[in-house]
Amino acid sequence: MTTALITHADCLRHETPTGHPEQVARVEHVLHALEPLALRRVGAPLAAEDDILRIHPIDHLRGLRDALPQAGFAKIDGDTFMSPGSLDAAFRAAGAMVRAVDMVLSGEVDNAFAAIRPPGHHAESETAMGFCLFGNAALAAKHALDHHGLKRVAVVDFDVHHGNGTQDLLWDEPRALVITSQQMPLWPGTGRVDEDGAYGQILNMPLPPDSDGATMRSAYAEQAFPRLRAFKPELIIISAGFDAHRDDPLANLNWSTEDFAWLTAELCSLAAALCAGRIVSTLEGGYDLNALAQATRAHVEELIKAAP
Ligand SMILES: [Zn+2]
Repeated sequence: MTTALITHADCLRHETPTGHPEQVARVEHVLHALEPLALRRVGAPLAAEDDILRIHPIDHLRGLRDALPQAGFAKIDGDTFMSPGSLDAAFRAAGAMVRAVDMVLSGEVDNAFAAIRPPGHHAESETAMGFCLFGNAALAAKHALDHHGLKRVAVVDFDVHHGNGTQDLLWDEPRALVITSQQMPLWPGTGRVDEDGAYGQILNMPLPPDSDGATMRSAYAEQAFPRLRAFKPELIIISAGFDAHRDDPLANLNWSTEDFAWLTAELCSLAAALCAGRIVSTLEGGYDLNALAQATRAHVEELIKAAP
């Protein structure tokens, strides 16, 4: 049994203006760091339009198609851009998650990591924002629920920014437990404790600026892990952003690479106890290239350890 690494060269065709933190080099650094590891490498397919429409209305898709530039960049909002290759990249990113869920649920692999961009957790139902075009993690959850017929899926989002998009897309989905930790205050400004979903199935864990891995570990141990045990998910989806790393330029948490390894190992051990180890993880943020590469490698090494 094994860990799948799902990616596609098209994810490098989503370009952003010079100096933009969400840059092509991110996935290049991640893939370089993962090169020595024993992974089953899988090419991400393009998502079908129906996969996208599971979470976004057709107008969202039409809007992005209309905005796609022939050359240069289209500015979607203050920090979200599209280049000529962006839609192909976004369809590969979404397709990677569909394929990851299919492979893990069929037992073809134990778990999977999607090294993709654009990231997804800020994309709301009708709004691309925060570098994100489609809600990749929510799309994976809906695919597992609606296509595969699972009854309970958990999404755990440890990106330093609140996963407002995932929260929006799964707000009224009682079959999805959403657990998200984020620095607060920080962009996008959402993620308060009282934002708990239509069925109380969303757990927001705001973390104070300048706090460290110890604060994170307590929050997960005291709040997140008991909720996961009680919910008994059949699949755990991870929105793996690495921008809570102490070297990240966009935020002010002080997690170490070991903190990401610890959190991943804990989630793997919960998955082993609750859902035969089934985990699908997707890359979200992480903007210091070296910290991103190291923390991603530590994360994937734990996935591999959990898939003996
Ligand atoms: Zn982030």
